[in-house]
Amino acid sequence: MSTAASDAAQLKFRDPTAARALGAAIERVTREIGRDPVSVMHVCGSHEQAIARFGLRAAFPPALDVIMGPGCPVCITDVPEVDEGVALARQGVRVATYGDMLRVPGSAGSLADARAAGARVDIVYGVSQAVELARQTDEEVVFFATGFETTAVATAAEILRGPPKNFSVLSAHKYIPPVMEIVAEMPGSRVEGFLAAGHAATITGSAVFEPFVERHRLPVVVAGFEPLDILAGLLKLVELIRDGTPRVENLYPRCVSREGNLAAQEQLWKVFRPLGGRWRGIAHVPNGNLRLQDAWAHLDARRRFDIDVKALWDFAAPSLVQQCICGEIMSGRQSPTSCKLFGKECQPETPVGACMVSSEGTCRIWHQYGGHPQLRGVGAEVTS
Ligand code: SF4
Repeated sequence: MSTAASDAAQLKFRDPTAARALGAAIERVTREIGRDPVSVMHVCGSHEQAIARFGLRAAFPPALDVIMGPGCPVCITDVPEVDEGVALARQGVRVATYGDMLRVPGSAGSLADARAAGARVDIVYGVSQAVELARQTDEEVVFFATGFETTAVATAAEILRGPPKNFSVLSAHKYIPPVMEIVAEMPGSRVEGFLAAGHAATITGSAVFEPFVERHRLPVVVAGFEPLDILAGLLKLVELIRDGTPRVENLYPRCVSREGNLAAQEQLWKVFRPLGGRWRGIAHVPNGNLRLQDAWAHLDARRRFDIDVKALWDFAAPSLVQQCICGEIMSGRQSPTSCKLFGKECQPETPVGACMVSSEGTCRIWHQYGGHPQLRGVGAEVTS
């Protein structure tokens, strides 16, 4: 597709008239439900980014509470996982990872702190760049792999392609569907339906959510990331809530099918196995972590190196991190403005918690764009 054609296609999904009509329909259906608030959750940082960037919250009716869930991969990478990366780097192993991961605090500092102290930490845009780095050196290179199934597939593909012998993976990859179960079952959960991430569903397919809907009787709508994708997804979600007809609906058919990308799924499960583990600040999530299968033990940094996390205790310093409520924010029980550190001690330049680090973190997004604008419910212009 030419650039002009692709721009035109994108603008089609940002049409202000269509957005206003969808906003009005959401307001009408929410009113018909007759509860205040009606609470729905999206489980994707890219959805929150788009909502903030296009000012969509101003178009949501006051009675509709759109909560951001645990959809920021950097934010839910647990402290012990960060500690493993930091410990490896401080042990003298070269660590390559995404830029966002550098400033995520562990129990004794971040990878950025380790780098400032002389450790070799490289920022890469993806796993293939980390493999390339390993090819150019004799040193051991560990790729600290974070992200959901979308990025885990890329890691799996590189492993299946056969990386050089000095390359290994410290997997902190996560798998989204199991955490939805945890959020739905959390005491005090107000979530009445989920907006699922379109990009992850391109891999898993929309059918992956069907057992969840069966179990919890909560609707799931798969949506894309343009303003009209999100508004149409929310409209479908409130309609399903109003009608009491929980089911999976795919409103992103231009990218997502019911069965998903079968070749990618095969690669994913050939390399990874699901394992229970903690998601930062949230809970233990059964089957929520992706770890390397035994067949790839030789590429697993956890089995290749003796990672001395206890050695980090020498670097531990008093921190405000205990006051961070990221977990409650990502499980939909609090919002960033409930945190007394928000915008004060905790800012993008001086993050206390992981939610303020990543461009997909709720605190960072709210700090950058504001959270619930005063205009809320008035009906905002959607701009391109
Ligand atoms: Fe954590 Fe900072 Fe967000 Fe507070 S503002 S919840 S400390 S990331």
